[in-house]
Parts: sequence; structure tokens; C-alpha cells
Amino acid sequence: MKAKDMKAFSKKEILTTAKSVLAKGPVCDHCLGRQFAHVSTGMTNDERGRILRKQLHAKPAKGKCPVCGDIFRRLDEYADSAASRLRHLDFKTFLVGTILSSDLVSKEESMWEDAGIEYCESIKSELNRELGKLIYDRVKKEHDPKNPDITVILNLEKGRVDLHVSSLYVKGEYRKLVRGLPQTKWDKYDETVEDIIAAPFMPATGGDGHALHGSGREDIDALCLDGRPFVLEIKNPVKRNVNLKKITSEIGKSKKVKVEKLEITDRKEVEKVKTLSLDKTYRVIVGFKHPVKDIDKLKKLLGPISQRTPHRVEHRRADKIRKRKVLAVSWKKINNKNFELQIKGEAGLYIKELISGDDGRSKPSVSGLLGNPAVVKELDVIKIWK
Ligand SMILES: [Zn+2]
Repeated sequence: MKAKDMKAFSKKEILTTAKSVLAKGPVCDHCLGRQFAHVSTGMTNDERGRILRKQLHAKPAKGKCPVCGDIFRRLDEYADSAASRLRHLDFKTFLVGTILSSDLVSKEESMWEDAGIEYCESIKSELNRELGKLIYDRVKKEHDPKNPDITVILNLEKGRVDLHVSSLYVKGEYRKLVRGLPQTKWDKYDETVEDIIAAPFMPATGGDGHALHGSGREDIDALCLDGRPFVLEIKNPVKRNVNLKKITSEIGKSKKVKVEKLEITDRKEVEKVKTLSLDKTYRVIVGFKHPVKDIDKLKKLLGPISQRTPHRVEHRRADKIRKRKVLAVSWKKINNKNFELQIKGEAGLYIKELISGDDGRSKPSVSGLLGNPAVVKELDVIKIWK
């Protein structure tokens, strides 16, 4: 022990407070030291408690600690229980959290009434740290307060430790090569892009659920021929170390969806990918009601398009008007009633409505400009501008 520590703990005020703490009964060294955690750093509360006790010439505590009920003596047991279950899981980092019992909360508060809170640390924070050390000794995995693979929860209300396994996040890009496939669970469709991507991950990770977070989504009947960014979340994985190359090739065997650039990532990527705002180029086969004469008028599509929430999605989206730009447009004649258009649109532009006009809700539109009702016969995303 350094001389300056001795000095810090010899101040009259601190010794007086320590004395009043010990007057509560056989308070353990942890609970005594914890009230003075900020007086001097670089040692455990346990060590601080012992120093103070010595300074006060008090005897070691005999009997059950009136503050913690000797919880610190039981930490080894909890650490064993956590470690025995952690050994079955594949992980790199962990964090410990504690749920206090209401009894402990009130005992801690009553202690603070006597000892003040000027120098104290909370029992929760000491328990998290001490149990963390004991688990580290057993499993030798790193402690990560921000992004742990596993959170060990010491639940003192229930008297047990629980494990919360963080989801595994994998980012990548997918292409959709068939029509009639929704990105995620939808109505009566029994297969989705998500299911196809997740399929090989489930046996590889031992996870029990999944969610796909995409950067936008193509229509169910549209192909997506350029890589669309996504994050796949796998819930409760037992294994985190997976062969992404092998999985990429297994997904490709579906012939319906292809993925590339798979990479293990973290939760923050979900928000990122969902808020990406990417321009897209579409290939659209447009069918007109009447033979087309003045197709050059489509040049006027360039620029801002005012789109009221389409009829087809109004039951699930707020009714509002938004402006999105057409950034480029070109066309190729198939016959006098059918044209292939290439349209580059700002993120969020509704293409089907841009063509049909959606009863005047989308302006200008292909139908409106040519005075000739037009519908989309086929729609593909051919380029996602990343
Ligand atoms: Zn105690």
C-alpha cells in the first residue's frame, strides 16, 4: 500500500464516516470500501475496506453483512454457473449486467443516508466489475461494454445468472433474379429473399430466428440486377464464426438470389443500411393503350416529379405529397404500343406511378405527357448507385 493511500484514508471525516458504517453491524470489506471508492483509486473496494478497518482498529466482520447479505462471497458460484454455459457458445466478448433485488436497493439507499454519496460507488457497478473479473479468469474472453457478443445478467431478484446472446449481423449485397419474390414476409408468399439468404446461416450458426434489413426494397414482381445492400440479423447464434464464402455459394445455388461482399458487422450497420438513400436506374417495359406518336415528349420527365402516396400503398403509408427527381430517361421502341424505358430516379421515386400517373397523383407522368394511358409490363432495377 502506498503512503498516499494511507494518508487519504486517515482524514478525520473519512474515518468518522467509516466508523458510522461499521456501527450498522458486521459490514463486509467490500461494502465498507465501496463507500470510499473515489477517495483513492487503483485498488479494489475489498482492499479499501481492509485498510479502513485497520485504521479504525476494528475486527474483521463476523456474521452476515447487513448491506449486501454476503453476495460477494457467492460471486464465484455465479461465475462458475455462467462459465459452464458460456463454454458451449462461440463468442469473443462479453459484458456483465446486474439486476438488483429490491432488498439490496433499499439496503444500499439506507447505507447512503448514513455514509453520504460523496465518495461511493454503487453496488451494481462493483458487482458487474467483480463478476466480470471472475468470469474472465474462467473463460479468458474480452470484456466489451459497447458491443458484447454475450451479456451475462446477474439477476439477484431471481438468484441466478442469465445469458443474453447478441444477434449476429452480416452485411452484404443481394441480387434478385426471379419475379414474384417479396424481400421479407408478405401475405400469402411462402418464400422470401430473406428466407433464401438466411437458409444456410441457420444450420451454420445454430440461431433460432432472423431478420433482413434492406436498403429499400424492389417490388415483388421486379428483378434486382445490381447489388442491394442489406444486413441479415441472426438471433441467438450458438456459433459466430461462419464460412461466408461457403454460404455465399450456397445461397447462389438457389438460382433465385445471389449475394456478394458478405462480411460480419455489428448492430450499428442496421440503421446505416436502412437510411442509405440510393438513386436507382430501372429498365421498364411500358405498354400504351394507343399507338405512340410523340415519344420525344418523355424528355419532359426530367426534373422533379410530384408524387402523392400511391393508391397501391396508401393503406400502409401516410398520405402525403413528395418530390423526387427523374435524373435521366431514355427509350427504345419495341413496337408502336410498347417501349423499353431506362429511367434513373432519385431514391424513393415510385416508378409504376411515374408511368401510369396513378389517376393524376403522380405529375408529370408518362401517361400524362403523351396523353396515352400507359402501364408497366415489366420492371427491373438495373443499377443501384452506391
Ligand atoms: Zn457487504
